[in-house]
Amino acid sequence: MATDIPPTVARLRATFASGHTKPAGWRRAQLRRMRRMLVEERPALERALKQDLGKSPVEAHTTEIGFVINEIDHTLRHLSSWLRPKRVGVPMALAPAKARTVREPLGTVLVIAPWNYPVNLSLAPLVGAIAAGNTAVLKPSELSPATSGVLAELLPRYLDNEAVAVVEGGIPESTALLEERFDHIFYTGNSAVARIVMSAAVKHLTPVTLELGGKSPAVVEPGVDLATTARRLAWGKYTNAGQTCVAPDYVLAVGDTADELQRELGAAITEMFGDQPQKSPDFGRIVNERHFERLSALMESGTVAVGGQTDREDLYIAPTVLGDVEADTPVMAEEIFGPILPVIRVPDLDAAIRFVNERDKPLALYAFTDSAETKRRLTTETSSGGMAFGLPIAHLAVPDLPFGGVGESGMGDYHSRASIDTFSNVKSVLDKSLAMDTMRVAYAPINELKEKL
Ligand code: NAD
Repeated sequence: MATDIPPTVARLRATFASGHTKPAGWRRAQLRRMRRMLVEERPALERALKQDLGKSPVEAHTTEIGFVINEIDHTLRHLSSWLRPKRVGVPMALAPAKARTVREPLGTVLVIAPWNYPVNLSLAPLVGAIAAGNTAVLKPSELSPATSGVLAELLPRYLDNEAVAVVEGGIPESTALLEERFDHIFYTGNSAVARIVMSAAVKHLTPVTLELGGKSPAVVEPGVDLATTARRLAWGKYTNAGQTCVAPDYVLAVGDTADELQRELGAAITEMFGDQPQKSPDFGRIVNERHFERLSALMESGTVAVGGQTDREDLYIAPTVLGDVEADTPVMAEEIFGPILPVIRVPDLDAAIRFVNERDKPLALYAFTDSAETKRRLTTETSSGGMAFGLPIAHLAVPDLPFGGVGESGMGDYHSRASIDTFSNVKSVLDKSLAMDTMRVAYAPINELKEKL
């Protein structure tokens, strides 16, 4: 409840001030407890994800529960080295002296999570916040209420209640939370709300991480294995029914690749979900009616090459490929965030690069190419949060790759070591002994001899 928020935040601030969360031992113990929760309560979490998004248990594990377990394991393995002070060199003029950087937690942080990967996007940031020694408030999304409820019930049972709190709710609760003073706000969601979050942060000069979305393109060049390309695109696009921030949003089919690619996408969809994907246990559902309506309308933007069926009662939209899509149609005006893949024809790589650069910087850019020169050009001539060649969405599973956006797709990053950086202050420390005052040369009065030095 919104009225409980000020005392909750005050409690967490007091815990942080007591120094309770700073020892590495406390951090490790909390991470181990969260890991135990994910293992012991996997069935409850899977049920909630099924209820909210029709996620299959396998998908729930690989993209959410198992993902966070891996994040915890990697963090526990490397935490000591990440936290170790780093010595740096000292200029001659200051010698003898020592200098080092020391990581310190920021304080009490707020994590606001969205509905599409409600376990992963709640807990992965929390892993970083705890590993860095902070106390934290988690606000899960009201649009995935079953998962929000399970997290609100489980986290207090497993984690230190004096240091971690869950606040459930929607706009009123988020608004009340944003009134409070935090030492960092970590927001994942859409860019309209990101602007509200950032405006609220201004009041207390609170740093923010904004993990947003956008239209992530996939460039397909002639000459590549289109059957493999189609399977990988279909996997990246139709996982979680396309409700993935890094899903390939649209394809830029270079040269004459479009027709065969569309045929191969159809074959890949049948291979993965059968002739009737609505009956497949592996294909998810749209989160709510509002998004169902929005997505159904976007079907009008091109010719349905594959799929196209919808069922409002079931919040089902078939894995769909739209052909002959023009750049100025509604499906190209917003992030699709659903199982609709437009294919746009472009004559050559120059046109593909221009197309990308004329739009907001995406969260990810994908390319399917055998050419090292194409990879080099895309890497240097376009800007995006991340990039992957030959396989969409999986760069998130590489623990040491920081994950985040640029421009409209966000600011700041996280995962593993990058999370420690996000949730810490790197304090610079200079240590010069008083034993021998080598600094006397710098003090006034500056005489001729000193000037020569
Ligand atoms: P959402 O509607 O669940 O909103 C996200 C959070 O913001 C929720 O906790 C919600 O309660 C809160 N919120 C909503 N309105 C608010 C307001 N007026 N004031 C304060 N808080 C408010 O999720 P969404 O925004 O629909 O999420 C989808 C978007 O998130 C897509 O654009 C997607 O690409 C992006 N996304 C990004 C990432 C990433 O890691 N970069 C991951 C997932 C989703």
